Amino acid sequence: MKSITLIDFIMKALYKKETLKDPESDNNTYSNFTLKRDTEFCCEKFKNYCKKFTVWNYEHGKFAIVDQITYEGHSVQSIDFCPFCGEKIDYEDENAPTKTKRKKVAKF
Ligand SMILES: [Zn+2]
Repeated sequence: MKSITLIDFIMKALYKKETLKDPESDNNTYSNFTLKRDTEFCCEKFKNYCKKFTVWNYEHGKFAIVDQITYEGHSVQSIDFCPFCGEKIDYEDENAPTKTKRKKVAKF
């Protein structure tokens, strides 16, 4: 008997988008994304990594990892997949939840 465990799990990164005033920018506002505490991490490694390092990008609302280190500093790249287990990261605005569940119901 073979037992196969299928794990149909997508990591959900819940964030809250806020538009704040910024007199110095072109349209006087800027967006700030805050990662919610009830974000479900795909694996313990990534969860622990996020505890140690700031990997959340407040400007883009995505996780970001260091891409290049130069003399001037470093550049970051936003990621859509977990760097540890390769799981897809679903970014979800808490005020605009995606309707993926409804689509599944409509399937015949
Ligand atoms: Zn992971």
